[in-house]
Amino acid sequence: MSTRPDKQHPDQLAFATQAVHAGNEVDAGSGALRTPIVMANSYALPEDPSTLSWSGTDVPIYTRNSGTNQQGLQRKLAVLEGGEDAVALASGVAALHAVFFTVLRSGDHVVVADVTYEAVFRLFTELLPEKYGIQATFVDGTDLEAVSAAIRPETRLVHIETVANPTTKVTDVAAVAAIAHRAGALLCVDNTFTPPPLFRPLEHGADLVVHSLTKYINGHGDAMGGAVVGSAELIRRIKLDAMVDVGGVISPFNAWLIMRGSVTLPLRIRQHCASALAVAEYLRDDPRVAYVAYPGLASHPQHEVAARQLMGGFGGMLAFAVDGGKEAQNRFVSHLRVITSAVSLGHDESLIVHVDSSGPRVAAYPSQFQEFGHLRLSVGLEDVDDLLADLASALEATFA
Ligand SMILES: *Cc1c(COP(=O)(O)O)cnc(C)c1O
Repeated sequence: MSTRPDKQHPDQLAFATQAVHAGNEVDAGSGALRTPIVMANSYALPEDPSTLSWSGTDVPIYTRNSGTNQQGLQRKLAVLEGGEDAVALASGVAALHAVFFTVLRSGDHVVVADVTYEAVFRLFTELLPEKYGIQATFVDGTDLEAVSAAIRPETRLVHIETVANPTTKVTDVAAVAAIAHRAGALLCVDNTFTPPPLFRPLEHGADLVVHSLTKYINGHGDAMGGAVVGSAELIRRIKLDAMVDVGGVISPFNAWLIMRGSVTLPLRIRQHCASALAVAEYLRDDPRVAYVAYPGLASHPQHEVAARQLMGGFGGMLAFAVDGGKEAQNRFVSHLRVITSAVSLGHDESLIVHVDSSGPRVAAYPSQFQEFGHLRLSVGLEDVDDLLADLASALEATFA
């Protein structure tokens, strides 16, 4: 077999090459090297359309089913995550909902990690149980006995995050996959915090991977999107049920932006990881900082799982608090001059958000999060010395 690299077969190429070439094609009409933005709702039908399926997603007919930019992005995401196929949707939450809506029916049971993105918590505590009679048990995903004990005969799905938002709790994906599969359940992993090349959940036994493309994969803070990657059969079902007939489709323009942003994913991830580690170590060593949660620190409770599981870094996300209460956290944030106070993460610019310790989800957080609240910091691509100096001067001003 030839090992000559060929961009027509991106699955055989190294990650950085995939990030540049996968899903992109020379435009047949214009000869443009980059797939243009195709802002069309409809595509020309063949002479005899009677054999077409109106809900088909292979041949572009109508942009809610399939469009040029959406298809290119889907091909790329499948390659990057090592899946057979992918579906791109309007947001990360649309992608999460698409999985839950497609694979669950009333009477089914789900085991959900106790620390997840907020919308998952509300979907499984209120919306899906109340509207559809789906039962959910929340468990500590790092406690494998608790995960096993939560499984019921009607458990169809286990849902976890590789590195959880916001506490950075790290789950052993292969171990949870084994538990789910023994019970005949699917494992869905939200991999938003640790996109490839850091981690590929499908290689560790996950059945479905969810991304908020809004975050690292686009990386520039200017487009929302979501995706699910998995086997051709599961993705076919998700496209049919949750895309064509529920309609949370991604816009061609956003698909194009995310396609472009994702070209530099491997370079950006390397810098996010290096800078986040430097920031975490800096904060760890300052006595005015109450605690730091970052999987790259030896003090992190799942540091060893993270080191075994992740490739080449520990991600760009950390959580910490300065000594003191709510006012101290707000004061600290108000003194930052480079790092921006805003939600979202994985953008080029560093973003920080103060989350206090109220609300029902916080009961599952480590005690320090409950005591001090937390500052969720997404370490961006600025020069790390500017970030460290910004943190230093904000600490000075807060405790002056
Ligand atoms: C942001 C986020 C989501 C939701 O994505 P949107 O694009 O904002 O809808 C889901 N999971 C995780 C882990 C996230 O950080």
